[in-house]
Amino acid sequence: MEAQIVAWLQRLVQIPSVNPSHVGPSAQTVGESALVTFMARVFQDLDADEIIYDPVLPKRDNLYAIWHGSDPSVALLDVHLDTVGVESMSIDPFGGEYRDGRVWGRGAVDTKASLAVALAVIEAHQRTGKPLTQTIMIACTVDEEELGSGAITLAAWLRNRRMRPTSMIVAEPTECRPVIGHTGLVRLWLHTHGVAAHTSQPHHGVNAIAAMVPLIQSYNAEHARLQTTAPAALGHGTLTVSLIDGGRGMNIVPDACRIGIDRRVVDGESVDEVTAHLLTLAAVATNGAATHTFVTSAEAFYQDPHDPWIQSLCAFHDTSVATAPYGTNAFAYGDIPHCCVVYGPGSIAQAHTEDEWVAGTELVRAAAWYRHWWQLSTMDAL
Ligand SMILES: [Zn+2]
Repeated sequence: MEAQIVAWLQRLVQIPSVNPSHVGPSAQTVGESALVTFMARVFQDLDADEIIYDPVLPKRDNLYAIWHGSDPSVALLDVHLDTVGVESMSIDPFGGEYRDGRVWGRGAVDTKASLAVALAVIEAHQRTGKPLTQTIMIACTVDEEELGSGAITLAAWLRNRRMRPTSMIVAEPTECRPVIGHTGLVRLWLHTHGVAAHTSQPHHGVNAIAAMVPLIQSYNAEHARLQTTAPAALGHGTLTVSLIDGGRGMNIVPDACRIGIDRRVVDGESVDEVTAHLLTLAAVATNGAATHTFVTSAEAFYQDPHDPWIQSLCAFHDTSVATAPYGTNAFAYGDIPHCCVVYGPGSIAQAHTEDEWVAGTELVRAAAWYRHWWQLSTMDAL
């Protein structure tokens, strides 16, 4: 099996798919479209019952492949196609070299490894000519490494189609451990407004920086308050005033000031409620004078670890559940799937590095789980 997975992974690594916001001179092509074109052909060769292009951004479509099974359960794999940039790499990013039991190159571990595993497992099964029990869907998503807009588009597509996957994996390198949670976030700019004047006559102006001071104090107090609440499964929310700018010159009363804030959201919180609370605090601290600009938000991801499917995954690999210090596409899916974990071969420690690689042994381990998850006979293994 390892040889088949490695062969798939080498082909995938050899097709550049650098996220456009990470593209530099060495990226060769911009974005995921070359890989989407390749994958559509692969899914056709693997006799997918449905192949669907789902537009996300200009020239950037998600691509879904569905193989229908005989029972109503649906197993869904979300695997992002984009990678981070390649400018600082010390190896050939698109060589896909197999050396020392590892496949090397950009995306080798994050996260083309999971796609290669899925393709090798499906290919082996299709050769048997046996029918599928579950419906299997592979969703190749774009833009994970920047805004997660591919995940948001997939979530909308699932809702539209009223498809509720029985089990879902969001592919990321987790060393084959089920990751059941990570924090979400709310990011905002808050603005205070003043009137410029010469600093020799500051009483003619209104100081926007001074107006910001009580708001910063209020947000610091909110962070402290969050640490005193009962911890959620993911711990405590946090609030950081992380950026500030304002003022035009040493001799001018500042007419504008803004702060950027980053609020980490835990399970049990909703980004809408958190955002509303942050804006209420701003209104109170500035007597209603502050305005805001929304930057981004993402719900926390948290899955009950007692779910039988997660327990079976833990038992299969003789491991336990984990939480992640980083965010993933899982933020977008909420209660659409019955059960969802982040899972994949290889370690996040090798992701985004100058010499990214994944071990062949990890690929084989993940392939064994995929066969079990998709209820394919172990006789399908080559
Ligand atoms: Zn990734």
